[in-house]
Amino acid sequence: MHKLLQLAGKLLGRNKLSILIYHQVLAEPDPMRPSEPTAEVFDWQMRLLRDYFTPLSLDDALHHLQHNTLPANAVCVTFDDGYLNNLTVAQPILAKYGIPATVYIATGFSHGNNMWNDRIIYLFSDKNRQQLSLQGEKVELGDWPQRRELAQQWLMKLKYLAIGPRIAEVDKLYLENEAVEQAPLMMNPAEIKQLAATGTCIGAHTINHPILKVLPAAEQQNEILQSKQQLEAWTEKPIKHFAYPNGVIGRDFDETAVGIVQHSGFDSAVTTDWGVSTGGNSVFKLKRFTPWDHRELKFHIRLVNQYWQKG
Ligand SMILES: [Zn+2]
Repeated sequence: MHKLLQLAGKLLGRNKLSILIYHQVLAEPDPMRPSEPTAEVFDWQMRLLRDYFTPLSLDDALHHLQHNTLPANAVCVTFDDGYLNNLTVAQPILAKYGIPATVYIATGFSHGNNMWNDRIIYLFSDKNRQQLSLQGEKVELGDWPQRRELAQQWLMKLKYLAIGPRIAEVDKLYLENEAVEQAPLMMNPAEIKQLAATGTCIGAHTINHPILKVLPAAEQQNEILQSKQQLEAWTEKPIKHFAYPNGVIGRDFDETAVGIVQHSGFDSAVTTDWGVSTGGNSVFKLKRFTPWDHRELKFHIRLVNQYWQKG
């Protein structure tokens, strides 16, 4: 069956590039993050890519895309945000199967503070707590599905606030519940340098992970350019690729950000718009998708199925 799918991919996937998005690869399953792959799941996913696809570095893939020379079943692996488990859990598996990857890092979280969304999830995950006080209202946490649902509601509620007020709201929730912060989840500059030294491509993902669209152009420019410069200083390598935070074209960023990225010395930028990319797509608006299936055959079918989508 996998062989048939590989053939289907060869026929359907000519000059189409699949770029996969990951965030974390968990050492152990986490009931608050059932959709994040564990090391075990990521291992067979990467083995499947090695056996039935053609994993490429982003640089190679872009070169082929622009010259219409992409090999069949071409795929790139990318990670967003800069989680430490990219280095400690994912990288050894990538190395084992010889799969290149790109990790896009929001540099404002490289000094010990966690991202606001992880802080929310952690607050709702505390097993020693049966209830939380949320803006004065006592809320029962219940079982894992209910905790996930509650965390999701708060993530949606705070997502489109400006950075300052958003962090202030999360701070208030921690204070209201006398909650203790989780240990750092993201890589520090030394760890980023270590990951870069393994050959993993490091890309920029702004400083504070804002919704770029709601910021004035000058602030967008700071976020984009300064994250690039910081990462170049930390890794001592040129940073050539960018990922838009949240990443939906029109909703999270617009042509202002695209123009800034284009004029800041980047070679490409990835979105979270679902799909595969063809030579006709702008390299500053590359599409991606998340292979969320935790069963091998479904995962493979879904990867091939992407080729039916319009580029
Ligand atoms: Zn991100």
